[in-house]
Amino acid sequence: MSVPSDTLTRHDKHGRYPEATTVEEFQRNLAAVQARIRAACHRVGRDFATVRLLPVSKTKPEASLRMAHAADCRMLGENKVQEAYRKWEAMQDLTDLRWSIIGHLQSNKAKLVARFAAEFQALDSLRVAEALDRRLQVEGRSLDVFVQVNTSGEASKYGLAPEDVPAFIQKLPAFTALRVRGLMTLALFSSEAERVRQCFVLLRTLRDRLRQSTHFCGLDELSMGMSGDFEIAVEEGATVVRIGQAIFGARPLPDSHYWPGETSTEEP
Ligand SMILES: *Cc1c(COP(=O)(O)O)cnc(C)c1O
Repeated sequence: MSVPSDTLTRHDKHGRYPEATTVEEFQRNLAAVQARIRAACHRVGRDFATVRLLPVSKTKPEASLRMAHAADCRMLGENKVQEAYRKWEAMQDLTDLRWSIIGHLQSNKAKLVARFAAEFQALDSLRVAEALDRRLQVEGRSLDVFVQVNTSGEASKYGLAPEDVPAFIQKLPAFTALRVRGLMTLALFSSEAERVRQCFVLLRTLRDRLRQSTHFCGLDELSMGMSGDFEIAVEEGATVVRIGQAIFGARPLPDSHYWPGETSTEEP
């Protein structure tokens, strides 16, 4: 596949996305993001329908989430389990709203995830897989999961080293309440588009290699790309993009708050 190499990251906009305050503003932001996904698909000859947009609502108040729902969002991504659980409890009236947990999980919080989440995108340990499976069996539920891979090599990032992924995935069928859907990654946070792209290429290559082996059926999804880099991710094969700020508006806190150990990403 030949890929445009001039698509840039947009981390420069970080902290400057205006807050969406009406349903119409949510609709406009969603349409703008969809148009950019469509354009990225077009550049590489992909079908737009193969990319799912997951709006990320972390740190945003319930009122904003309700507006996003009114603007047709039916699944929301949250980075912290307790925050997500609190929002889920407060919005039980929205019976068609589903939740995706996209941040690191400690096994002692697996119980909460098992109770309400539809999807968990940050699986990176057998301990958590085991805890989730046990609690899901109790709840009589199942959960879509993505295995998180550290494609940037940064020590601060969660996720398995790429070379550890095949052996890890091989052990997952033992956990029958987990439905393994694919791989997830956070790219290097950088304005150097080429280095960001390499993270996405690495995830896709890993998935393709795993799929060739007959043991790994159903490993189709690639969750990669966020507000600053999703167009590059789509060009490289993303099937899920996780977008917060370009839909909801900038977050008040720097990303180091959500990804501990991260160096500051604020513009000078
Ligand atoms: C917050 C977050 C996102 C979305 O980031 P934005 O810059 O708001 O688009 C994506 N993935 C994960 C894991 C996140 O925590």
